[in-house]
Parts: sequence; structure tokens; C-alpha cells
Amino acid sequence: MTTERYEFFAAVQGYLDNAARVIDLPPHVGLILSQPKNELICHFPVRMDNGEVRLFKGYRIQHNNLLGPYKGGIRYHETVSLDDLKALASMMTWKCALMNIPFGGAKGGIKFNPRAHSKTELMRVTRRFTHALGSNIGPEYDIPAPDVGTNGQIMVWMMDTYMNTVGHFDKNAQRRVVTGKTLSSGGSAGREKATGQGLVHCIVEWAEDHHFNLEGATCVLQGVGNVGSHAAMLLAKLGVSILAIGDHTGYRFNPDGFNPHRLSDHVRTRGSIEGYPTGQPITREEFFATKADIFIPAALENQVGEAEAKALNVKLVAEGANGPVNPFGEKILQDRGIEILPDVLANSGGVTVSYYEWTQNKRSESWELEEVDEKLERAMKSTFKRVLSFAREKDIDMRTAAYALALERLREVYAERDIFP
Ligand code: NAD
Repeated sequence: MTTERYEFFAAVQGYLDNAARVIDLPPHVGLILSQPKNELICHFPVRMDNGEVRLFKGYRIQHNNLLGPYKGGIRYHETVSLDDLKALASMMTWKCALMNIPFGGAKGGIKFNPRAHSKTELMRVTRRFTHALGSNIGPEYDIPAPDVGTNGQIMVWMMDTYMNTVGHFDKNAQRRVVTGKTLSSGGSAGREKATGQGLVHCIVEWAEDHHFNLEGATCVLQGVGNVGSHAAMLLAKLGVSILAIGDHTGYRFNPDGFNPHRLSDHVRTRGSIEGYPTGQPITREEFFATKADIFIPAALENQVGEAEAKALNVKLVAEGANGPVNPFGEKILQDRGIEILPDVLANSGGVTVSYYEWTQNKRSESWELEEVDEKLERAMKSTFKRVLSFAREKDIDMRTAAYALALERLREVYAERDIFP
């Protein structure tokens, strides 16, 4: 984490204000969007494997549902806080509006370290949390998905608990209460890699626009989880090599490039990059100063502040994570001419394929991987082009452009529906 005093929700609010000015957003719409609709905080007890009872704090923040049901990930991490989740929930609203997906925005999570728990404890924590959320989630109301510290298995436990506790006549129709499920329990082909895949589509578009050859290009990657590992494997197919990697356990450098498949297998079995056999350990400072073409932050928010932005030695920052560059860092990157592919565009492949999963569940269908891949590619590339051309037309950065396009869509619907009563 950077050391600057940083409030994530206030930073996102700042981006919203910038974009609102670009499109002359009516003040009352900006006011409505300035706070989440609902903020749910619950405490629930869970029995640990050793018999001890622990109390957990869970959150679900529902930012906006103008365009459709609330939608957004569930995070298990020791730093989960109300402020961060408010920021992340609002970003889901912008993402879905930008991608033209009929969902609103939400985010939730539990403040704890999932790595410190056994599989059975994780299952009980997940089930009690889902029970505590009760009817505050639902297939047409609020649809969780995986985020940091959660995965397809956690989603399946959430789905199963919801089906068994909220009395429904047609239990199978409730499967779409969560997305990002495993394939066998109703997930979609292509969902696991979707965020990394969407990010890579954006990088390819950026490279084409800049006449930049990705074959032989280099990359620095922070976070080797769902987003980071898939992005690395897909970039390798395009000839991009990963020179430096990092996660919560440390940082490593390999001038010959890391093998992303072996790396991802190592992380899957060991839980982190710790003990990875190739390359050598480096400091966080050395990691950020590594010379490469692209930096992909795919871990947490607030990783690039002033110091990191001054150190980065790349052409492009492609935001796989949400909010990885703070406003102080962003200003420096802009001054240095380092381009940023903003999170609400660059990592929106995940929620896009989540929408495909939800649609398949609703229609009792199962689409082929090729179909999902084609749809995602079309959606990412056309949205990238829309954001880039709007940014150029208005002479603004891509983040402001992405927010402005999202706000335009919300503005239109608010103009038609107006305020109840
Ligand atoms: P994950 O849990 O699979 O991986 C998280 C990675 O971050 C791990 O490699 C972990 O070691 C690393 N990490 C955690 N704390 C760190 C620290 N203090 N310093 C350095 N590294 C640290 O999570 P994910 O699903 O890959 O999510 C990563 C980012 O992408 C998050 O910002 C998330 O909100 C965003 N995102 C995820 C999805 C998705 O579909 N999973 C979609 C959109 C955005």
C-alpha cells in the first residue's frame, strides 16, 4: 500500500465529479449517485474447527439499481472496509452502465483473512454470511460474484445456502443468485478467465491504436490471482513476457520472463508466489522501477501513489485491479505521459461474462466457450473504441471518458423515469 492518506470512495467521487462536468450532468442525478442506496453491515458467529466461536463482520453495499439488479463481487480480505466497498460498489454501477449491461452496482465482503482458515471453516463462514444477507440478495435483486479472496467454490456455497434458506418453489431458478460459479454447478464457460481476457482485449486495442507490436513486448505484473494469472497466460500467447511479479508475499524478477502457466499452477497449489523456483527476489521498490512496456496491477486498490508513479518505467498501466492507481499517482503518470487503461473499462470483462452466465441460467442454456469468447471480444473492443473516441473528441483522459459515457446512460434513464413519487 502507498503511504499517502487516501480515501477510496472520495477518490471515485472525484472521478464522478470530473465526468459530470464534461456531460453537464443535472445536479440532482449527481446527488443521487453520490451515495449508495443501501449499506448493510452484519455480525454473525461461526464455530471454528477447534470448537471456538468467532464473530465476523460482513458487508453488502448496494449502490444503484436503476438499470437492473444490484451486481458485484464479494471480497474476503483483512482490509475490507465500508469506505472501500462503497467505492467498489459505485464502480460496478459505472462499469455496468458503460458496458450496457442491465445491472446496477454493489459490492460486499467480510473483513478477515481467508488464508488463515480451513476449507470447512470457509464454508461455514460463507454459509452464515449468506444466511445473514437473507433476502437482501436474490436472482432479480442483488447478484454477488467472486472478487479478491473468493472463487467459484465460495459462490457455489452461497448459491446452495440461498436455495436452501430462502423458501422457493422453483429452487433451480435461483441458481443465478450468484455468478462466477464453477462450471458443474451452473457457471459459464469462459467466466474464470473473463476479467483477464477483457483486459487483454483492451491492451490489444491500445497496441493497435498506437502501432505498438505486442510480440516481444514486456510486462510487470502485481497480483497473480484470478485476474493476474489469466492476463499473464493470455498475454504470453501474444508474445508478451512477464519480467517481474509480485503478491502479498513479495516480489520476484526474471530477465528471461516467467512461465505464466507454471506460475499459475504454483499459486493454485501453494496459495502465493512464495517459493517460486525461478527468478530472484526483489524489493517492492525494485519491482515498481522495473523497465518494461506494460504494468498490470491486478491485486488491490491504492498500490500506485506518488512514489510508485515516479518509479514506474513503462508506457502503459492497464488496470486489472479496481482503483490500483490513486489520484496522486495518476497525476504523476499523466505528467510523465504514461497512459492508463482505467479499471471501469479494462476489468469489465468479468461482469460482462457474469451477465452471460446469469442469462444462460435464466434460459436454462449452456453456451459454448467460442460463443462466450466472441461476445466478450465484441463487447470489450467496441466499448474500448467508444471510450477512446469520446476521450479524443473531448480532449479528456480515458478514465473521465469512461465515467462520462456511463453517466450519460444513467442520465437518460433518470430523465425518463424521474424521481418517485
Ligand atoms: P484474487 O484473490 O484471485 O487475487 C488477488 C491477488 O492480489 C493475489 O495474487 C494476492 O496475493 C494479491 N495481493 C493481495 N494483497 C496484496 C498486497 N498487499 N500486495 C500485493 N499483492 C497483494 O483476486 P482477483 O479476483 O484476481 O482480484 C484482483 C483485483 O481485480 C481486485 O482489485 C478485484 O476487485 C479486481 N477485479 C476482479 C474481478 C474478478 O472477476 N475476479 C473482476 C473485476 C475486477
